[in-house]
Amino acid sequence: MTTFNTAILDLVAKPLVWLSGSRDTVLALNTAARRVFATVHPPVPAAAVFGAAAPAVGAWLAGPGAPEPFCRLTIDCTTPAGPRRLELTVGDLPAGAEGVLVSVEDHSDDVLDGSAENAWRATLADVLQSLPVGLELYDQDMSEVFANTESSAMFGYSTEDVGRLDDWWVVGYPDPEYRRKARQAWYDAVALSRTTRADVRMQDWEVTCKDGSRKLVAFRYRAIGEQHALLFWDMTERRSLETELRRVAETDVLTGVYERRRFLAAVAAALGEAAAGGEPLTLLMIDIDHFKVINDTLGHSGGDEVLRTVGRRLAEGVRIDDIVGRLGGEEFAVLLPRLHGVPAREVAERLRTALSGAPFEVAGERLPVHASIGGTQSPGETDSVDTLLERADQALYAAKRTGRNRVVFFGDPS
Ligand code: GH3
Ligand code: MG
Ligand code: MG
Repeated sequence: MTTFNTAILDLVAKPLVWLSGSRDTVLALNTAARRVFATVHPPVPAAAVFGAAAPAVGAWLAGPGAPEPFCRLTIDCTTPAGPRRLELTVGDLPAGAEGVLVSVEDHSDDVLDGSAENAWRATLADVLQSLPVGLELYDQDMSEVFANTESSAMFGYSTEDVGRLDDWWVVGYPDPEYRRKARQAWYDAVALSRTTRADVRMQDWEVTCKDGSRKLVAFRYRAIGEQHALLFWDMTERRSLETELRRVAETDVLTGVYERRRFLAAVAAALGEAAAGGEPLTLLMIDIDHFKVINDTLGHSGGDEVLRTVGRRLAEGVRIDDIVGRLGGEEFAVLLPRLHGVPAREVAERLRTALSGAPFEVAGERLPVHASIGGTQSPGETDSVDTLLERADQALYAAKRTGRNRVVFFGDPS
């Protein structure tokens, strides 16, 4: 066997591996190869260098005259330095030297870069798929290029139901007028987003689902290059929670009628309508007679029970458009929008009898409850909520002064 000074291999910058004639032993590695294979001290079995790929390398090198010079083999092997993708080429040995010289190119970086990017893409696609909001991507021809799981799950339609965009408008928005508006908003959003390149918030739209239920859905639209991204999520529950919260905040806890602020806001709105040429309205202020005595007789919680019953009897005694509120303590008020004159007086009288007409039953006791009612109507000389309240209060005071359990309107002769 002819030998040569393996130190020569170190002059070559490329990693070089010298294998024995039997191809199963690595006789030498140059410095660059020791870096790739994380330092191997030859002679060692080929498997110590090429790992599980050693048989493939052996087979590639086997056979008379094989492989041809510059014939390459790509292997993936696990080295002590981690996984590697290597491209092997057979090189020439000095004349007379036995075995083969394999030059190695480390392609791990490309592969790892590629696979890292692929892995990242896969992760990203996974994240988009599992977002709790609907996500759809469209190309410039408005053909869908991506739709995540939530986007199809949200409304329950299959591709047979909504194969074309037009189908979707029809099933999602069965009312033609509503559909027209929603569609217009969509195209406006597309146009705006394309010029401004910004997120466009659309109003929430009520979408009809496959099972016939309706969902209130928030939409955001954005142009990304030539593509479009549509994000949407279900607002139904949040909106009904908001409505419920508002209702609770605006409702008097004890009696269930409007609390003072909400009631006065309703009066202001009705005043606005009346001032804008609508029918005059009537405001009634109702104060329970001798409520202190009721409290003294039944105790505070008994008094509360009376207040609850008053609230209920008032609410049951008015029209659907009328509003009952509790201004505080044992003082209630009723707004009768678009009602005045004799009919309004009749309502006031009916409410008085609704309270005093039948005794209240509280904690097993039956007791009579009366209330005095002061009324006023608008338009008057000066119309603001405060002046209206002031006039109703004066009328109420007159009702108290002239015997209680009565209705008096502002301006009535005393
Ligand atoms: P009048 O006929 O002149 O109206 O006599 P009144 O006894 O009803 O007199 P007033 O309106 O001044 O009394 C209101 C009483 O209502 C005093 C207060 O203790 C009681 N009150 C106020 N808020 C509540 C409440 O939330 N629950 C109960 N049980 N009592 C209340
Ligand atoms: Mg009072
Ligand atoms: Mg009172």
